[in-house]
Amino acid sequence: MARIIDGAAIARDIRAEVAAEVAQLRAAGTVPGLAVVLVGADPASEVYVRSKARACQEAGMLSRVLHLPAETSADELTGTIDGLNADPDIHGILVQLPLPPHLNSKMFLERVSPAKDVDGFHPTNVGRAFVGDPTGFVPATPEGIMELLRRERIDTHGKHVVIVGRSLIVSKPLASLLMAPGPNATVTLCHRHTADLGQHTRMADILVVAVGKPGLITGDMVKPGAVVIDVGVTRVDDPSSPKGYTLHGDVDFQAVSEKASAITPVPGGVGPMTIAMLLRNASTAALRAHERRNARKPAGAR
Ligand code: NAP
Repeated sequence: MARIIDGAAIARDIRAEVAAEVAQLRAAGTVPGLAVVLVGADPASEVYVRSKARACQEAGMLSRVLHLPAETSADELTGTIDGLNADPDIHGILVQLPLPPHLNSKMFLERVSPAKDVDGFHPTNVGRAFVGDPTGFVPATPEGIMELLRRERIDTHGKHVVIVGRSLIVSKPLASLLMAPGPNATVTLCHRHTADLGQHTRMADILVVAVGKPGLITGDMVKPGAVVIDVGVTRVDDPSSPKGYTLHGDVDFQAVSEKASAITPVPGGVGPMTIAMLLRNASTAALRAHERRNARKPAGAR
C-alpha cells in the first residue's frame, strides 16, 4: 500500500517559514503586498481569490483584491495593471484567469511587470525558468511539486519522470525544472495525441498527471513501486456532499495506491502546495524590492 504524501502538512510548514520571512521584512520596514485582479463574477475564481487573500493575510502580508465588473474594457484593465506596477506598496500582482472572453489574457499577463509577476506567467519569467536563471519566478504548481519531492526525499536523479499534460502553467515548467542539472531526471511529456498512453506511464519511476480527467490513470497504467503525483482537480457533482460537489484527481486513487510506493491525494496533495509557493514567490518579490530600494539609498541614509 502506498505512503500518502501529506501536501497539506508540508504546505503548513512552508507557510510558517514564509510568515517568518515576512515578519523579518516588516521589521526591516517593508510590508510585502500582493494584489489580485479579478474581472467578472466567476464563482470558482471568487473562491480561489478569497483563499489567496486569506492566505496572504495569515502570512502577515498586505492583500489587495481589485474586483472589476465583467464589462471592464481592455483600456481599463491595462490602466489597473499599470497602476499596480507603479505602486511601491504592491510587490506581487496576480491576474485571476479566466478573464471574460472580450479580454485577451495573454496581453494582460504580459502587461504585469516581470518583477511583480509572482505567477511566473510573463514570457520573461518563462524564459528565465527555461534557462535556469533563478532571478525570475517559477509558476507555483510546478515549484510546489519540486518542493514536495525534495521534502519527501524522493530522489529524481537519473529517474524516468513521465508527465501527462503539456500545459504552460504546470507540465512544461515542471519538465524543465526536473531535467535541469541538480534534479537530473529523464523526462517524457505526454498529451492528447500520445499513442498508447499506458505504454509510457508504465515506464515511469515518478508519474505526474496534470490533465483534469478523473480516473484517467488506472491501476494497470502504473509500474509497481512508482511515485504518483496527481495534479488534476475536477469538481464532480455530489448531492450527498454539503457543497454539492466533491473534488477528484486524475488518478484512480484506490487501485493505484495498491501499486505505487507513494501517492498524493486529491484534495490535500498538490493543491495546498500551490498556494504556499505563491506566498513564497510574493515574499521573494518583496525581499528583492526591499534590497533594490536599500541599494539605491545613499550611504548613511535610513
Ligand atoms: P490544461 O491546460 O487543460 O492541460 C491539460 C493537458 O492534458 C493538455 O496538455 C492535454 O493535451 C492533456 N490531455 C487531455 N486529455 C488527455 C488524454 N486523454 N491523455 C493525455 N493527455 C491528455 O490543464 P492544466 O492547467 O495543466 O491543469 C491540469 C489539471 O490540473 C486540471 O485539473 C487543473 O484543475 C489542475 N491544476 C491543479 C492545480 C493545483 O494547484 N492542484 C494547479 C493547476 C492546475 P493537449 O495539449 O494535447 O490538449
